[in-house]
Amino acid sequence: MYCSDLGEQWRAARVEPSIGHLDAASAGRSSNAVIDTLHQHLIREARDGSYIAADAQADMLVAGRQALGSLLGHAADELSYRDSARAALSSVLNGMKLPLSATVWVATNEFGPNLAEFERRDFVVRTMPTIDVFGRVDVDSLENMLQFEQPDFIHVCHIGSTSGIVQPVAQIVEVAHNAGVAVVVDMAQSVGHVATVTGADVVYGTSRKWLTGPRGVGFVAVRSDSVIDVELLPSDAFIAGQLALSQAVAELVDLGEQKVFDELAAIGRIARERLHGIGSWEVVEPLDERSALITLAPPPGWGPADVVAARDRLRELGLLVTAADSWRAPLAGDTSLLRISPHLDARTEQLDELAKAIRTMGY
Ligand SMILES: *Cc1c(COP(=O)(O)O)cnc(C)c1O
Repeated sequence: MYCSDLGEQWRAARVEPSIGHLDAASAGRSSNAVIDTLHQHLIREARDGSYIAADAQADMLVAGRQALGSLLGHAADELSYRDSARAALSSVLNGMKLPLSATVWVATNEFGPNLAEFERRDFVVRTMPTIDVFGRVDVDSLENMLQFEQPDFIHVCHIGSTSGIVQPVAQIVEVAHNAGVAVVVDMAQSVGHVATVTGADVVYGTSRKWLTGPRGVGFVAVRSDSVIDVELLPSDAFIAGQLALSQAVAELVDLGEQKVFDELAAIGRIARERLHGIGSWEVVEPLDERSALITLAPPPGWGPADVVAARDRLRELGLLVTAADSWRAPLAGDTSLLRISPHLDARTEQLDELAKAIRTMGY
């Protein structure tokens, strides 16, 4: 039985998976129409010439920008494409006018590779206050802090790579803007997953995860009235990928974006309730956190290699999940976690199999 009433339709639009795919946070499964869009454009490029083929798709490209922009709360002309979220961040940091040793405030769910980008540029990184053990930003304390001192900008992962916690980005933006501080948001795990209209100055993300577009496409949008100046160089080469991502966004809009977000939140809750208290593993997030990214902490004493072995065992049993090592969120601690990230085609039988397997792995 599908966990969501959109499950059957979502699955029917795709090839049959060869495995119980519970790994949308790594890469979601693209629809046949997305794959066909990519394929057809590559054929047009070879047949008609790449530039002519791109011109012929100009209307589709504009429509795609408009739809993705509106998902992010940005105008179409504020959006530009990159090869990945990582490349998008890099272009933002290169395009910002910042003082030497700029200060950036982040949350404890900050993505490790992003921290490496900050360190490479000698930024001073500080952690925003948290309101709970899950690392959720404490917006009231942040507002107080901002009265006394302001960073050059705030950077926050809307959803991190190893936690299903959804950061209160709209509220962070509100208090930051009251203090004249810009907010840059990593939406790699949130676009297509939760509502992403936040008012942030700069947002960026990736096609291949919850949006289920192709790999190799990222995007960034800078508000025209951004608090901070960001000058982005043009970089718009992978037209087939942009068209395929546009198709993926169109499918999300057709299903009803709010309906999809509600269903993914419901799937997250169903999965956490099913996995809660199994063996000596522990669900890390609150059971009703409104996301479909679920993490399980291993039994006490288990190290990273044991979690990798558990991931491998699940793969042998036909279930695809991630062993999430602590490099992904180094400020959140050094525990390796199992990350389970079902999309709309999740079935209760898969969760039962997962629960059964996990029960036997532990003590
Ligand atoms: C996956 C991920 C990224 C990187 O996305 P790419 O498109 O592979 O560069 C960045 N931030 C977070 C939180 C992620 O989960």
